[in-house]
Amino acid sequence: STNTYVNRAGTVTEADPQAVLDLLKQQKAYFAGGHTLDISFRKEQLRRLLEALRSHEQELMDAMYADFRKPAFETYTTEIGFVEKELQLVLKKIVRWAKPQSVGETLLNFPARSYVYSQPYGVALIIGPWNYPLQLVLNPLIGALAAGNCAIIKPSELTPATSAVIARLISKTFDPRLVTVVQGGVPTTQLLLAQRFDYIFFTGSTQVGRVVMKAAAEHLTPVTLELGGKSPVIVAEDADLGLAARRIAWGKFMNAGQTCVAPDYLLVHEQVKDELIERLRIAIQEFYGDSPRHSPDFARIVNDRHYRRLSGYLQDGVVRIGGQHDADSRFIAPTVLDQVNWQHPVMQDEIFGPILPVLTYTHLDEAIRQVNSKEKPLALYFFSSNEVQQQRVLEELHFGGGCINDTISHLINPNLPFGGVGESGVGSYHGQASFELFSNQKSVVHRGTWIDLPLRYPPYGNRLAFV
Ligand code: NAD
Repeated sequence: STNTYVNRAGTVTEADPQAVLDLLKQQKAYFAGGHTLDISFRKEQLRRLLEALRSHEQELMDAMYADFRKPAFETYTTEIGFVEKELQLVLKKIVRWAKPQSVGETLLNFPARSYVYSQPYGVALIIGPWNYPLQLVLNPLIGALAAGNCAIIKPSELTPATSAVIARLISKTFDPRLVTVVQGGVPTTQLLLAQRFDYIFFTGSTQVGRVVMKAAAEHLTPVTLELGGKSPVIVAEDADLGLAARRIAWGKFMNAGQTCVAPDYLLVHEQVKDELIERLRIAIQEFYGDSPRHSPDFARIVNDRHYRRLSGYLQDGVVRIGGQHDADSRFIAPTVLDQVNWQHPVMQDEIFGPILPVLTYTHLDEAIRQVNSKEKPLALYFFSSNEVQQQRVLEELHFGGGCINDTISHLINPNLPFGGVGESGVGSYHGQASFELFSNQKSVVHRGTWIDLPLRYPPYGNRLAFV
């Protein structure tokens, strides 16, 4: 099916409830059998996953092209290659991470040695969204496996071709008692959420994040929630505008704007607004040519519901760049909207598409006040060469993570824990943070037995006088 872009109606087959319950029981028994405790077993599983990814590269690229015409280069760099890098890092570091970590002593426990032991939780549930359908289920899986857990993966029903390849790849690679994919839509996810897992890792919308956390509360299951929101990009009057335009256009229009950390809206100093918009026009033309519809490097909107929602936003403000759209192929051109205010629908919810509304400010105080009056975003980007202003943005604004003078890049460094804050998420992962997240950090004191100082034991007498 190479290079066929299939416009799917999206029929979802829900999982058989009894099969799901049986599977969970088997995974729990397998975990209890201690099979996952050995570090060389875990490394073997991670190596197998790396092999499987390498042998399914073309299939995955074709599937994502079929699902939303995702360009092969983006599929490789933001999905397959991204997961392979994470695997390589974990394979290199796992032995060190898994060792009991020695911590300092307190004289009160003398004689003793204290350690933090990383112990797997058990069976993890990993629920993914459609926008990066591979990496957002496999990167959590790497953490889960490295830490010694079993896992059930529920990929998105909105990218059926990719989810089918993931299911096939996983079933060819792992014992189902260790890792299995369960496919389905909302009913299947709700069935899974009603069960007792040992950890739940969810990536998706804030709205569904609330549903997940409520379900987890029933069993007091620990959760990580990787959610969304409106991530601002602020451009100051002293920024290098050509550079800013290229880096903003790249982060915004990659995956056709359907990226959780994409710049959602632009907040630009009013003195440089017109020049920045002109520079954006040049960047978009350089990236996608005169007719982005014919560019092989520009993805499509995932389904009709999202297409209708997004094309509705084209009524807001004034279209300065782009605006062309086509329902049949679910194409929306890279678009910049001017004259937008907070009352417009495009400013109410996360956009999640190739439409960039432009708001202005005259003083940084005002930009900071506007952003802080909204929910805490997943990402924030600030373009300026003024270090005082950079410092103010970092200190005064609350957001999950971000960049100074770039977009998206904080996600690329596996040494940086990635996650949101407030409505944009709970907890963070990648690299060592993933290993720690999927491990119960068990604190243990080993007391020496050669002496037993009696100071703590009753009767206390008048010892209070000496403390
Ligand atoms: P979504 O919340 O609609 O769906 C995510 C998953 O939840 C899917 O597997 C879906 O089957 C399931 N689901 C949907 N409705 C449900 C319900 N009522 N009950 C139980 N399960 C349900 O999200 P999406 O549209 O697939 O993804 C887009 C959202 O994800 C955006 O908000 C985006 O910002 C966010 N996102 C966040 C990150 C991150 O790392 N923080 C990454 C990618 C996407």
